[in-house]
Amino acid sequence: MDLYEYQGRELFARHGLPVLGGGVAQTPEEAAAIAERVGRQVVVKAQVKVGGRGKAGGVKLADTVEEARARAADILGMDIKGHIVHKVMVTEAADIAEEYYFSYLLDRANRTFLCIASVAGGMEIEQVAHDTPEKVIKTPVDASKGVDEALAREIVTKAGFPAEVTDQVVDIAVKLWRAFVAEDATLVEVNPLARTPDGRVLCLDAKVTLDDNASFRHPDHEAWEDKSAVDPLEQAAKQKDLNYVKLDGEVGIIGNGAGLVMSTLDVVAYAGEEFGGVKPANFLDIGGGASAEVMANGLEIVLSDPSVRSVFVNVFGGITACDAVANGILAAFDLLASRGETVTKPLVVRLDGNNAEEGRRILDSAANPLVQRVDTMDGAARRAAELAAAGI
Ligand code: GDP
Ligand code: MN
Repeated sequence: MDLYEYQGRELFARHGLPVLGGGVAQTPEEAAAIAERVGRQVVVKAQVKVGGRGKAGGVKLADTVEEARARAADILGMDIKGHIVHKVMVTEAADIAEEYYFSYLLDRANRTFLCIASVAGGMEIEQVAHDTPEKVIKTPVDASKGVDEALAREIVTKAGFPAEVTDQVVDIAVKLWRAFVAEDATLVEVNPLARTPDGRVLCLDAKVTLDDNASFRHPDHEAWEDKSAVDPLEQAAKQKDLNYVKLDGEVGIIGNGAGLVMSTLDVVAYAGEEFGGVKPANFLDIGGGASAEVMANGLEIVLSDPSVRSVFVNVFGGITACDAVANGILAAFDLLASRGETVTKPLVVRLDGNNAEEGRRILDSAANPLVQRVDTMDGAARRAAELAAAGI
């Protein structure tokens, strides 16, 4: 999960990193109230989970309360690279003498953690890394050793931080590493890490990605989840432990195995071209053990999407045999009916692999008018697309 800057800043503050005071606002009035409380020049910053806000005009200084209100009004509602700004952060503004860059991240390619530090930070860091890579110091961090004061000092020296800020940056480097580990982050980035004319070093931006696989260790992180931004169907699926992603088409997809489901999306999108551009409505992988309950939960989610016109159930029997899946589909109809959600949309089912013959026989003898059996993936995709187009 990526955090908004104001959340990252809160995380930084918990770990004793130097950030400036302020708050987050959803209206110009709230922004003005924060500016009033700060009582001096503030910076009004768009809260969107995308970089380059400064260049896009989403970061503005305001000298007075009225200016803060006006800048918030400008920034709220702005579209930054496809992200609409619903919140702004208003904090005390810093005077900036120099902008540095400092981050820790999980370097998957090299199977290690990495520290990236530069004294040439700020909005042009990508350009700096491209044109003068020698100014960007990359240091692998051994997970079992971490970043102690000695390593921090080595990094800070190598990166060429000015002597008068060395101790402060070393302290920040150690605390930032502790925050990175303690919060199970995969990225903590400070750009700019700024030096003020009076010699203080401050974290003026906070970009944090948390490792969702560790969320069970951090009940407090749940408060940072962006419930409003999550699709309600995806939220319902998550509660049922289903691997579901909402898409914007009309053919509901249920399959077992992520690879099979992904190729099903491709095949349906291709088949749909023939029927006026019908597309897959979702990704849903019900995994290996497709019990009736899992199938019912999956169908429930897929069918509660109002844009779904037909459903393609594509199962390759492996550990779970096709006869169990066929029984699961039929039982799911009953289960849904008992929940008051009688199925009314057509299902195209393709069963192959382990016990496919038996599975097909079970579906045929049930003779449910809503279930159509097609035995090839392409054929089934085409039929599902055709039914979706007919239902629009
Ligand atoms: P980003 O562009 O999305 O990374 O947003 P940042 O938070 O990094 O802000 C962009 C730029 O705005 C920074 O590089 C600074 O130059 C400037 N900026 C941010 N905060 C302050 C501040 O408190 N005072 C001043 N003078 N400039 C700031
Ligand atoms: Mn930044």
